[in-house]
Order: sequence, then structure tokens, then C-alpha cells
Amino acid sequence: MNFSNTVKEEIIGKPIKDKCCKKAFLAGLMRGNGKLFSRGEYLGLDFYVYGENTAILAANFLSSVYGYEIREMSTTYRKDKKEKFVISIFGDKAAEILKDLNILTVDGEDTAVNLNIFSGVCEKECCFRAFFKGLFISVGNITVPDEESSLNTGYHLELVFSHYAPALLASEKLSEFGVTTKITRRKDNFIVYIKSAEEIKNFIAFVGAPVSVLKLTERMINREVSNNSNRQANCDLGNVNRQIEATEKHLAAIKKLKSSGEFDKLKPELQKTALNRELYSDDTLSELAERMNITKSCLNHRLRKITEFANKDQG
Ligand SMILES: [Zn+2]
Repeated sequence: MNFSNTVKEEIIGKPIKDKCCKKAFLAGLMRGNGKLFSRGEYLGLDFYVYGENTAILAANFLSSVYGYEIREMSTTYRKDKKEKFVISIFGDKAAEILKDLNILTVDGEDTAVNLNIFSGVCEKECCFRAFFKGLFISVGNITVPDEESSLNTGYHLELVFSHYAPALLASEKLSEFGVTTKITRRKDNFIVYIKSAEEIKNFIAFVGAPVSVLKLTERMINREVSNNSNRQANCDLGNVNRQIEATEKHLAAIKKLKSSGEFDKLKPELQKTALNRELYSDDTLSELAERMNITKSCLNHRLRKITEFANKDQG
């Protein structure tokens, strides 16, 4: 299961008891992706949720808070096979519900969508939490780096809004609760987002999913461990590459000395070292030193002398 769904399942798995919070949760759900429509004289609203559990929860709340029984629910499947439930509320009750949730404001003949998303439904902290639970389930998404994959994807959480004002309100409210977010524009939408893993944890904790916070922490640790071992491996590889480069330099110097006839002018121990370097060109410095029964620093010193001699000859 992707991490978003893990968080959403955890949110849904916890009962919301107070009526104030049930309303706020419904408002968050409907605000997220609800679409108003009119059918004859009636106003209605379609909104969708993914997964049977969420659909049942939404239907339960509509029934227990407003005595509204869902009559229409259609389903489609997404690519990842999670079922999408489109919930329609319409009829006399629909306008009442939408007004009570302050999604619609009515001024005489005029009805308008109220962009002040919290007004009338959120006063207490419990309700803000519930609102963001609903909103996150509706239009929230989290991407976290895959533990196994070496792809360097970062941490990302977002809530998608179709208007700027509610995005700003949400961002400001979250910061009051200790969650720092940013806002950006993507096509026609406004995205409230977080890039820091720590802030994502703050958000997840705020919407009441502590098990998911732990899971995310665990992932971060595993990722750090695997990053560190990658760095170690890269470092080892760097050493090997440097050794190969050094050996090639030594071999080139020896070859040059031989072809210029200068080789015989080397001291005997340097000649012996040069011949061994050529003969055992795959040896590391340590291996070659051991083979020659000298220390690594002694070998290094001799090889440096050989290279210097070859270069001096050139100059
Ligand atoms: Zn409440």
C-alpha cells in the first residue's frame, strides 16, 4: 500500500465521536472535491471518496448528523484498483446540509460558495483536526522515498485547492497548529505542500495517525542507513580508482625509462621495484609491498623516485 493510503486508512480507522467533529470532517471531505449541481429546483452536491471504508463513514455521518440517507452512490475503479465512490446529496436536505456546513451562503435569492472554509464548522481544535482529516482523505497526497529504490525522490505532502483563499486559510491554520507549509500554483489549482519529512510527520500527527508517524520515522532511518552504506561503497570505489590511476602512472614512467635507455641508470632496488610493478600490475600497493617484503611506505617512496626520475629525464 502506498504511504498516503496507509495514513488515510489509519485516519478512517479511528472513530470520530463528537457531532461537531463529524460535521467538520464532512465539510473537509466535501470541500476537497465537491461539485455543486442543480436539478430542477434543487441544489445538489457530488463528491467522491476512495475506498469502501471512507464511503461508509461518509454515509454514516450524513445519516447520524443530518438524518440524510444516501440514495445514490456510483463507483468506478482507478488504475490502482482502489474503488472510487461518487456520493450525491440532493433534494430538500441538500441545501440544508450545505448551508449548515457553511459551504453555501444564502443571501436572499443568491446562493454562493463560501470560500471561508472553516467558518461555522471549526472553532475548537478537535474540529480543525477533523476538518483536515476529511480534507486530506479527499485531496491529500504524500510521496515518500521508496526504501528499496535508489531513485532519489524526496518527501512530499500536498493538499490541492481550486481557489487561492481556502489554500491560504488552510496554510495559515496549519501553521497555528505547528505545521509549516508552502503554497504554489499548478495549472488551475493551488497546492499547499510540505517538502520536509519532519513537517510531514507534524501534519500526520496533527490529523491523528501516530502509527503512520512511526512508520515514516522507520523509513527515514532505513533510508539513512542505506544512504550511508552507499556513501561508504562510493568511497571504497574512489580509493580503488585512485590506486588504478597511480599504477598506470607508474607503469607509464617505467615504460618511458625503458624506451629511453635510462632504465639501467636506476639504482638496483628501484629497478627491482619497477620490474615487480610491471609483472604484478594487478596488485594493490599493499599486496605488492607484501610480495616484495617491504613496507607500503617504502614501496610508495620507491615508486615516487621512479616517476620523478622518468619525468626529470623528460625535462
Ligand atoms: Zn469537534
